[in-house]
Amino acid sequence: MIIFKKVADIQPYLLKIKEKGQIISFVPTMGALHQGHISLVQNAQGEDTITVASIFVNPTQFNDKKDYEKYPISVEDDITMLIDAGCDILFLPSVEEMYPEGADKMPTYDFGYLDTILEGKERPGHFEGVGQVVARLLDIVQPHKLYMGQKDYQQCMVVKNLLRQLGLNTELIICATQREPDGLAMSSRNRRLTEFQRAKAMLLYQCLVSIKTKQTDSSFSTVQKECIDILKDKGFVPEYVSLADADDLTLLEEYDANRNMVALVVAWLGDVRLIDNMLL
Ligand code: AMP
Repeated sequence: MIIFKKVADIQPYLLKIKEKGQIISFVPTMGALHQGHISLVQNAQGEDTITVASIFVNPTQFNDKKDYEKYPISVEDDITMLIDAGCDILFLPSVEEMYPEGADKMPTYDFGYLDTILEGKERPGHFEGVGQVVARLLDIVQPHKLYMGQKDYQQCMVVKNLLRQLGLNTELIICATQREPDGLAMSSRNRRLTEFQRAKAMLLYQCLVSIKTKQTDSSFSTVQKECIDILKDKGFVPEYVSLADADDLTLLEEYDANRNMVALVVAWLGDVRLIDNMLL
């Protein structure tokens, strides 16, 4: 695996790869890698394909400065995992390399409705930061294919919207959420859970399963209340337990058998914010 830290080095290298007719598949991450990230790298591999991963903890997408400061960093282990997974290139830029003139000089993108609900509402400025960093990374790497995790469902929709705004024909491939054996969605933030919290964390997944399985014989508002009560009872602070149209994320008050639906949950366990979703 070749590691690049500078835009001026990776760009000509990738250009040569493109000239050879090879496909560039790109997996952007913030590091502290786990099997969820590695599954994206594995999905990204293919014939005549060069897999590029990036590790960059993007300061501009953290609406909470403390969350940014506490974000786990494990670059050495990450590099080993990427090599083992057969990744070809790692882009590992500094903040200065990504935003040479300062992040406030970067273009911003308007995601409209998508930025007013769920993550957009709870984390003001988050998707603006995501838009900035993804646009910058896409400009540097210029991939044919972009691999992202369904775990961040709304982020996938924001990036789909961004690709449209940028007029790019990069193909977005959304990969299934990888889970621990008890159902907890793998996340870099999980390593900040205490043993006691970790034992309870799979409750979020169980809430999603109950929202899915009860759709035929219960009202969503009833299941939603059950989930919120159970989460609170077990010491979580739920932020939202929501149901939405899976195609455009229109929030739904009730199950609607005529739509593709997705259930989305966020809850805090101590100072760790857990996020998950499930297609119904
Ligand atoms: P992050 O490092 O958290 O920014 O995540 C980088 C990419 O990995 C994003 O596209 C995430 O959606 C994806 N990802 C994170 N966790 C998982 C998971 N458990 N399963 C699949 N993809 C994931």
